[in-house]
Amino acid sequence: MSNKANNFWEKNIETKKIPKDEVNFDVIIVGGGPAGSAVACYAAKEGLKVLLLEKEEFPRDKVCGDAVGGKALRHLEELNILKSLEKSPHFVFDSVIFSNTKEEKVKVKIKDSETTGYVYPRVNFDWFLFNEAKSLVENSGGFAIQNFRVNDLIIDSKDNNRIIGVKGKNSIGEKMFYAPITVGAGGVNCPVAKTVISEINGEKFIKKKHWSTSFREYWRGIDGIDYEKGAIEFHYVDGVIPGYFWIFPVGNNTCNVGLGITLEDYKSKDKKLKDLQEYIIKEKFASRFKNAELVENSGKAWQLPLGSPRKNGMKLRRMFGNGCLLVGDSGSLVDPFTGEGIGNALLSAKTAIKHIIENRKDFNLECGEDYQREVWEILGKELTNSYKIQNYTRKEWLINWFIGKAQRKPELQKILSESLTSKEAQRQLTSPWILFKNLVF
Ligand SMILES: Cc1cc2nc3c(=O)[nH]c(=O)nc-3n(C[C@H](O)[C@H](O)[C@H](O)COP(=O)(O)OP(=O)(O)OC[C@H]3O[C@@H](n4cnc5c(N)ncnc54)[C@H](O)[C@@H]3O)c2cc1C
Repeated sequence: MSNKANNFWEKNIETKKIPKDEVNFDVIIVGGGPAGSAVACYAAKEGLKVLLLEKEEFPRDKVCGDAVGGKALRHLEELNILKSLEKSPHFVFDSVIFSNTKEEKVKVKIKDSETTGYVYPRVNFDWFLFNEAKSLVENSGGFAIQNFRVNDLIIDSKDNNRIIGVKGKNSIGEKMFYAPITVGAGGVNCPVAKTVISEINGEKFIKKKHWSTSFREYWRGIDGIDYEKGAIEFHYVDGVIPGYFWIFPVGNNTCNVGLGITLEDYKSKDKKLKDLQEYIIKEKFASRFKNAELVENSGKAWQLPLGSPRKNGMKLRRMFGNGCLLVGDSGSLVDPFTGEGIGNALLSAKTAIKHIIENRKDFNLECGEDYQREVWEILGKELTNSYKIQNYTRKEWLINWFIGKAQRKPELQKILSESLTSKEAQRQLTSPWILFKNLVF
């Protein structure tokens, strides 16, 4: 990426050089995506000396649907990032279109105009978050380092496998850093998560029903889109269901187009994700894509670790170790129905900081358990409902019936609309009696 970019968010982010003898910090954060950058912002604001380590260099792409919902927007506002983010290109959505395998569709307005969502290409979105984190971290005496890949943890095996630091590599060579707390924010393959979950605790890292796989492309010039303000689209398509296909406009005559499906459901498909997407575009959406052009090299697959409830006592995949905690995708918190993970990444960052501050000198397993318990207290109901709705989507007849009915029934449209923002409405959506009453009568 050259520095000849036109817009400031397309330029490289300059960071302070770290002196050789700077090796001790209050907190080390592995990964500078939304979760890690948010923890870094909150921690620096609390006056902690932070080390934020990121393996890539910004601006960098992250495979995503790019939709940023109300929950994420509230945190961005609190972090004072929303105003500057609004300077970069984005799309404002005020409604959601759902269609079924019979091509019946319903357009649902989002109820509360204040909680409309945005679609922000992640290449810009993540730049703003990391840039803000870097400024705050440097102002409070810490460092944000790009092109630094953490490849191992420093573990004190004499103190109950306590994580006391990280090892990693940049262009100059190997480095080691130490802190009483390490935050795993490295996303799907976070080295901190892998170490505490699999290596230290011998637990399974990937469970197919709690893990989605997905494919994303950018397309220009799709028909039937209002590129200024309007709807994002979810489509249940024959041959792909219970996976879904999405079209999210990002502005500039361009859409983020993709499909997602759990690994469990993907087992029964005989096509690769890329081929499934090609099939949908060519066979099912040919008329809308007849004038459209694929943005070169934008097709990429990536994964989503879901926050669907587990049967274990902790309800979620392990989110802590001795001396460390996990946030965002590293903590497996993506919404199982919508695939939304940015909001929960920011929320887990905010929750984490409270526990980090309270236990900054001695973050032990008990503190980690308290953190995970609080995340579940906040998100448990929502994730449980989303998981139920995700299970409904496995019944093609039910989805077809529901969307078909909703097309004609304002009462169902109202429940759907409210369910996009309200927990009570999500509960109604998963209540068999309310659904039965609305679907049958
Ligand atoms: C196809 C797809 C569509 C999605 N659509 C949406 C959507 O529309 N809306 C939504 O809210 N969510 C969506 N999600 C989920 C969302 O992308 C994630 O939940 C979100 O990015 C989580 O943020 P994070 O900071 O936890 O992880 P990430 O965004 O993955 O950031 C992790 C960071 O850690 C860095 N890192 C990794 N390993 C190391 C290492 N060893 N050393 C140093 N740094 C490291 C990475 O380079 C990266 O910058 C989608 C996901 C996918 C795959």
